Amino acid sequence: MWKCPKCGRAFARQEQQHYCGKPNTVDEYIDSQEAAVQPRLREIRAILRAAIPEAEERMSWSMPTFWKGRNIIHFAASKKHLGLYPGGEATAVFAEELKDCDISKGTIRIPWDRELPVELIQKIAQWCYGEYCR
Ligand SMILES: [Zn+2]
Repeated sequence: MWKCPKCGRAFARQEQQHYCGKPNTVDEYIDSQEAAVQPRLREIRAILRAAIPEAEERMSWSMPTFWKGRNIIHFAASKKHLGLYPGGEATAVFAEELKDCDISKGTIRIPWDRELPVELIQKIAQWCYGEYCR
């Protein structure tokens, strides 16, 4: 383990390149993640942006967030999966369509080696936007 003397984060590799500091923008967040998962994070961001172009991107709860008057949906990188956080109502409404995914209340976990279910993600994001931003 190597601990960055500037930001205190621990990394497996010595002198691991990373964004030093608390990400203030979605770009900084993505740049701060492991290089291997950055393309997937850009992919989910593009998917969500296409689904809800009216929403604004910002950081909230330390996660990239699509926002319009309130938080609509968040995403975040974990060690083993991409987390998508549409809220508990959404995961309940889409439970049947999400039955192949690892879900718990408000959270959808998609392993990094799995393709993103693009259409379903867009449908969920649009549902959240319609439901939360009326
Ligand atoms: Zn650092």
